[in-house]
Amino acid sequence: MNHLGFKIGKMKIGSFDFTCCEGCQLQLANKESTLPAFLGLLDIRNFREISSERHDDYDIALVEGSITRSDEIERLKAIRAQASVLVAFGSCACFGGVNSLKNKIPAEEAIKGVYGDKKIETMPSTKISDIVSVDFMVPGCPVSKEEVERIVVGVVTRSLNNLPKYPVCVDCKQRLNTCLFDLGEVCLGPVTRAGCDAVCPSGKTPCLGCRGPADDINFPSFLQLVKEKGLSQDEMREKLTFYNGFADYLDHES
Ligand code: SF4
Ligand code: SF4
Ligand code: SF4
Repeated sequence: MNHLGFKIGKMKIGSFDFTCCEGCQLQLANKESTLPAFLGLLDIRNFREISSERHDDYDIALVEGSITRSDEIERLKAIRAQASVLVAFGSCACFGGVNSLKNKIPAEEAIKGVYGDKKIETMPSTKISDIVSVDFMVPGCPVSKEEVERIVVGVVTRSLNNLPKYPVCVDCKQRLNTCLFDLGEVCLGPVTRAGCDAVCPSGKTPCLGCRGPADDINFPSFLQLVKEKGLSQDEMREKLTFYNGFADYLDHES
């Protein structure tokens, strides 16, 4: 047994999707170059994108998507009860993700507009850790497949790796990019967790914070920076709420 309470050897893994686009699971399945080695470490018991096997005796559960219906709560709790280790992966699972945009619109209004009088059961988009305990989080929209593999391999081999603690700006500066703030754009790089190799600002697109907050960020200082640069507060707020990763900071601020 290891310290997380499961047997050492080939770990049984299941991957489960809730409300999402399944883009994060596809990221894993698409990685042909390393997929055989990754799968060689694991016994796939339940992973719709990879295998037709359906078994409920997994040790590790990868959970993708947010919770937006009451039946999903029961299903998630059953997965938690089975798994020794639960990994929430993707911004939907970690923060509520883009699905959280629906939380800003009155549900009745949206349902009426899309479905007319049809009865639709829905609830605000909720992150996985609001319902069950989560052992590891791998944020991103989509996730970095290297990072998910690293975390899962770390669980299997008991050499756990954590996420980078520092913000996207560090990687962005190392790539010698011109800062988008100097080009009049609001970029969330100063407050967002690194690990994506600053892919958006390197392509001249501001960071939208899909990886959520870095450790120990100075949020008031970020707000002050946007103010001092004379940039739009509305645009900043729109970006900070896009993936719902900064909800705690915004709640605290208001
Ligand atoms: S985090 Fe992004 S890519 Fe992953 S499931 Fe959610 S919307 Fe899709
Ligand atoms: S472009 Fe964004 S990520 Fe890059 S240094 Fe400027 S604020 Fe940081
Ligand atoms: S730069 Fe920001 S929005 Fe883009 S992938 Fe990285 S964390 Fe996500």
